[in-house]
Amino acid sequence: MRKIDTRNFQRATRTTPKEINRQIVLNLVREHQPISRAELARRMGVARGMVTPLVNELLADGLIYEGTTGYSPRGRKPTLLHVRSHDRLAVAVDVRFSQTQLMLCDFTGRMIALEQFPTPLEPAELVAELARRVRSLLTVHADQGCCEGIGVAVPGMVDRRTGKLVNAPTLGWRNLDLRGALARELELDIPVHIERDAVACALAQMWLDPRDGGGLDSFVYLTVSDGVGAGVVVNRVVVRGHGDAAGEFGHIPLALDGPFCPCGSRGCLEAFTSNPATVARYLGRELDSRRSYAELRESGVTVGDVIARARTGDALALAALEATGRYLGVGMAVIINALNPARIIVGGEVTAAWDLIGPGVRAGMTERTLTEASAATPVTPEATDAQTRLRGAIALVVAPVFAAPAIG
Ligand SMILES: [Zn+2]
Repeated sequence: MRKIDTRNFQRATRTTPKEINRQIVLNLVREHQPISRAELARRMGVARGMVTPLVNELLADGLIYEGTTGYSPRGRKPTLLHVRSHDRLAVAVDVRFSQTQLMLCDFTGRMIALEQFPTPLEPAELVAELARRVRSLLTVHADQGCCEGIGVAVPGMVDRRTGKLVNAPTLGWRNLDLRGALARELELDIPVHIERDAVACALAQMWLDPRDGGGLDSFVYLTVSDGVGAGVVVNRVVVRGHGDAAGEFGHIPLALDGPFCPCGSRGCLEAFTSNPATVARYLGRELDSRRSYAELRESGVTVGDVIARARTGDALALAALEATGRYLGVGMAVIINALNPARIIVGGEVTAAWDLIGPGVRAGMTERTLTEASAATPVTPEATDAQTRLRGAIALVVAPVFAAPAIG
């Protein structure tokens, strides 16, 4: 699924396939709304007569609508076009080891309702609970519009062809048809989309960021949460690899042994930098088995607690966080050496302590990259309230509407 670059597309002509021109118009309206037909034609570099039938088709399909009138120095005032988004709804679901969140929102990402509950460790229980809550949300908010899709972000690899969750290490789930089970349980005629969480976060940057992903063509979204994962975007396309397994930077080895990682191995970036890893370091606990992660969850201590204690002068808490920063920096250096992205965006609870861990991150990057430019790769921590994982789940529903058509 490719995003159309509205600043640099091949000039639309009469021989450009109509589906492409139509998507260019739709994306231009989305980015420059409200916009007149004349302005659209100018931005596309074509005669207005070519824009009119495309606009009419998008109007007839309900994808855009005519709103306010614009200013004209003479003659008839133009009617301005908007993308229809306020009454097109989506349900976003973020499944994590610690908790599951679901949000009802419109196509701009405006939140209508938000719920959360502890993630059941039994998949069937999660499916039943999700279905019950989604049905309830849609009933309660039926007056807000029509739900066009459900997007689910999961902490693991997803096979794009079958939609199966291939491996979710933090949950211990393998080869699970979560999408199919949820669709069957819901019994609603609404598509269910599923995607690895870090990829969903990258999609949120591309599709829902008002600054158009900061205008970045190539970037990496690193999510540091119960697990650690990366969404890689190169030339405005998510890199998935031959078998949808690319971007698993959470499991690059920083040590041949080291702490146990939920993937079954030891010494992965995730095992050093995930929220449980930071909490375990603070508590002086060893992560040596899957069981030790469950026990850590039962302790009730969160990475938020560690950050709060570091701020009150707890030296152990500060040291635990600084170590996380250093390991993250080394991990980022590996990503930079492999992909040389324009920027690394970091999401997750630990970003709330960026003033404490940022210097360590930069030190780790500098130590393990090979050029000054690589060491200076911009790293942007996201605001902790950005809800990027949920926004990513929305993007799963919204992006196909705006993506470039696949032309064979
Ligand atoms: Zn691992």
